[in-house]
Amino acid sequence: MIVVRTIAEARAALRSLPRPLGFTPTMGALHEGHLSLVDAARSCCASVAGSVFVNPTQFGQGEDFGAYPRDEARDFSLLEDRGVDLVFAPSPAEMYPVGFATGVHVSGHLTEAYEGASRPGHFDGMVLVVTKLLHVVQPDVLFLGEKDAQQLAVVGRFVRDLDLPVEVVGVPTVREPDGLAMSSRNAYLTAEHRALAPNLYRALLAGRAAAGGPGGTSKDVVVAATSALLMPAVPHDDAERAAALRGEAPSAAPRFDLDYLAIVDADTFAPQAVLGPRSLLIAAARLGPTRLLDNVTLSASAYPAKDATT
Ligand code: AMP
Repeated sequence: MIVVRTIAEARAALRSLPRPLGFTPTMGALHEGHLSLVDAARSCCASVAGSVFVNPTQFGQGEDFGAYPRDEARDFSLLEDRGVDLVFAPSPAEMYPVGFATGVHVSGHLTEAYEGASRPGHFDGMVLVVTKLLHVVQPDVLFLGEKDAQQLAVVGRFVRDLDLPVEVVGVPTVREPDGLAMSSRNAYLTAEHRALAPNLYRALLAGRAAAGGPGGTSKDVVVAATSALLMPAVPHDDAERAAALRGEAPSAAPRFDLDYLAIVDADTFAPQAVLGPRSLLIAAARLGPTRLLDNVTLSASAYPAKDATT
C-alpha cells in the first residue's frame, strides 16, 4: 500500500492505478464500518484509494476535534490488510495552507435541518473537504456510509449540482452484535452509557415495525412507537419502579437526551407527515457527552442497491 502525504505525491501515484478507482474518505480511528466501504470498493473497482484526515473545518467550536481518536499506524495496517492500494493522509496545512479562502456551500433545508441545525458549519466543512478530496483523488466511484444518511444526501446533491464525474454509492450501516451502529465516537461511551446505547437502534426498529402495522403510514404513529422506547415516560427498570412506588425522585440512571427524531425523504431530507417510497426514520441523541446518530429505512426502496444519487 502506498502512503502519500501531499497532494502532488497523491496525484503522481494515482496515475499508475488501474481504473475504475474506488475511494473511501475517512477520519481514521477505523472500525468494521469503514472497512465495509473498502470491501464494497474492492468488489467493484480495479483499485481502491482511502484517505485518513481529521478535517478541522467540519468540527464546530467546543466539539471534539482535539480529542478525536487518532491511531494512524493501526489505521494504515487495517487498510493494507483489506487491500487498499493507496492511502492519502495529508496534514491540515497541506489541505488548508496559509491564505486558504474558498468555501463550498450547499444551501437550503438539506444542510440547515437536523445535523445542520445541531452542528452549525459542519456541512460546509464536510462539503469543502470532500470536494477537495474528489479533485485530488479523481475516483470513479465514491463510497459513503448510510449511517451518515444526511451526509450521503448532501454529497449526492453537490456531486450532481457541480457535475462531478463520480458515482456515489451508499454502503449499509455496520453494527455491533447488540445493534449499536459502529462509530469512532463509541469509544467515548462509559460502560453505563454503552449498555443503554443499543436502545437507539431498538427504538428505530420499533418505529419501523409500527410502520408495517395499523395506521403505519402516518408519521405520528411511527414517531410515537420510537419515542416510547427511547424516552420511556414510565420507570425503565425494577429499581426505578420500586423508587417511584416509594415516591422518591427519579434516579440518576442514564437517559437519552433526544436531539431530533424525524421521518424524512432520503434524498431531500424534507420532513414527511405520510410515509413515502424513500422514507427514512432518523435520530440523534446524546448519552452524556457522546452524541449518537442512527437511521433506518421505512421502505425497501429508500436505498437502491447501487447508486444513491440517482
Ligand atoms: P468518518 O470517519 O466518521 O468520517 O466516516 C467515514 C465514512 O465511514 C463515512 O462515509 C461514514 O458514513 C462511514 N461509516 C462510519 N460508520 C459506519 C458504519 N457503522 N457503517 C458503515 N459506514 C460507516
